[in-house]
Order: sequence, then structure tokens, then C-alpha cells
Amino acid sequence: MRSYTLIAPAKINLYLEIIGDRPDGYHELVMILQSINLADKINIRTISDEIIRVHCNHPQVPADKTNLACRAAELMAKQFPEALAKYGGVDITVEKNIPVAAGLAGGSTNAAAVLVGVDLLWNLGLTQTEIEELGASLGSDIPFCVGGGTAIATSRGEQLAPLPSLDHIYIVLAKYRSLEVSTAWAYKTYRQEFGSTYIRNTEDLAARAAAVHSGEIVKAIVHKNATEIAQKLHNDLERVVLPTHPQVMQLRELFATQPEVLGTMMSGSGPSVFALVESEQQAQAVKQRVREAIPDEDLELFVTRTITHGIQIAS
Ligand code: ATP
Repeated sequence: MRSYTLIAPAKINLYLEIIGDRPDGYHELVMILQSINLADKINIRTISDEIIRVHCNHPQVPADKTNLACRAAELMAKQFPEALAKYGGVDITVEKNIPVAAGLAGGSTNAAAVLVGVDLLWNLGLTQTEIEELGASLGSDIPFCVGGGTAIATSRGEQLAPLPSLDHIYIVLAKYRSLEVSTAWAYKTYRQEFGSTYIRNTEDLAARAAAVHSGEIVKAIVHKNATEIAQKLHNDLERVVLPTHPQVMQLRELFATQPEVLGTMMSGSGPSVFALVESEQQAQAVKQRVREAIPDEDLELFVTRTITHGIQIAS
């Protein structure tokens, strides 16, 4: 029996701008995605039966065919039926550390890990680009999760351009355990409220994406200047999530008043909120102060940092 353990990191959005609609019903986006060292652990092994099964230790994560990790393995089985017949099915165990439905791409990074893991288990020899293309057919964040690091993502979020990697910017991350925001709801509500401002013309959409590429936050990333990056954080989805979720707004305001915090923002469709700080010591101090201000056990707080990679093989 063959087996691999993979590390599947979460991401945060340093930037998320919704620029228009797409004919396929998705939005045209410009995002800057950043891997962080908060990660799930995925064990994947071959089994003699030609089936895919998944186990997960988290009550909010389905242990059936709707699990994105399972869907990734099924996609591989469909694409490579001879490998399935030769090597057998796949048993996946997901050890969840990333908060669920939090805007941190928890499901997407699990799917990315399974694509990488099945490629290894079945000796397929796929390139990173081929794995990313398979991932894009399952979910827009999956291609980024494969290679990770720091990247600009356009179109639905699946078109990637790497940026210079950011290492060791410290992050305090907060999420109410029982609070979930559906990504589909956030985008649908945004379209209802702000759809009239969307760019309609293809050339203007491309120009807007190019403007972010050559804009201030990318310059700050190139200079690896955490203070400047923090000042340029942006997320359009805050416009719909913050007014409807006062607890998220409160967290955001609390972070903003901490002297060590360089900048704070909601990640993706939320409801997790992160704050950038210079050092681990400062991050621990902010975490402790937020904990004292909100002594609610439902509030999960993490100290983490930016990392330069996506899926990694642990063993
Ligand atoms: P994104 O940032 O990509 O929008 P998210 O972090 O907001 O994702 P996820 O943690 O991926 O959200 O969870 C979204 C939904 O997907 C949850 O309702 C969860 O039950 C379901 N789900 C399916 N498979 C997984 C998985 N492997 N890990 C986490 N959630 C999963």
C-alpha cells in the first residue's frame, strides 16, 4: 500500500476587487492571494477497492462525495481510469486546522493536496500547470493553492501571475467558530447591490486588471514593505459582509485600534478577519489583547505568518 501525507496551507486575500460579470455567471476578479502557515494535514493512500472515501475530524465538513477532497480524487479517477484500475482506489483523511467557510480556501487547499497526492500515488508525472488546470475545473481558488506563495489572480481567480514571495509578515487571524458566510451569498449580494457599477467592456476589464498589476500594492509587495502593503489592503466584499455581520465589523475595528497593527482586512468572503504586524511578539500581544476584549470561546484566534509555498509533501 502506498501513502503520502501532504500539508495544505490556507490563503488570505491581500486584495480582492470585483470588476465585472462573466458570461458563465461568475465574476471577473482581480485578487492578490497569499499563502499562510495555517494548514490542514491530508493523508492519502491507495486501497484495493476501486472506490474513493474520505474521513474528516471536523463536524462542519462533510465526509461524503460533496467533500472537495473527494471530488478532486473522483476527477482524477475519471481522467485516469487506467491508473485507478492499476493502483486501486483512494482513502483520504483530512485533519482540519483551517476554520471552515471562513474565506481561507480550506476546501480548495484540500482539493489541491489531493490532486498532488493522487498524481504521486498513481505515478502520473503531471506538471504543476496540468494539476492547476484540473483544479480550475473544480474551483477557482484551487490552482493558486497548488503552488501557493504570493500571486495575482484574475478572471474567476484561476489565472495566476506570480509575485515576489513574502516571507515572515506576521498575521493575527480571527474567526467566530459558529459564524459562516457562504461565498455564493456574498457574491450574489454584491451583484444585487453594486452590479450597476461593473465594467462591461472587455478592453476596460483588461485595463483595470493591468492597473492593479502596476499599482501601489504590487509595488509594496515587490519592495517587501509590510507597512505599505498593510495600507493598501482592499476587499470589495467587506461592503456586503460587514454591514450584515456586526461581529465581524467589531473585530475589524478592534484590530484597527491596536498600536502594533499595520493594517487589517476581511479575507475573501469572510467572516475571518486578519491583521498584519511586524513580529511574532507583536502578534502574540495583539492576540492576547483581542482575547481580553472579547472573552467569547466562540472566537478562534491564531498567530500565523506568510509563507512562500502551497502544497508540500510531509512524508
Ligand atoms: P473560499 O475561501 O475558497 O471561498 P472558504 O474558506 O470560504 O472557501 P471552505 O472552508 O472551503 O470555505 O468551506 C466552504 C463549504 O465547503 C463548507 O460549507 C464546507 O462544509 C464545505 N466543504 C466541502 N469540502 C470541504 C473541505 N475539504 N474542507 C472544508 N470545507 C469543505
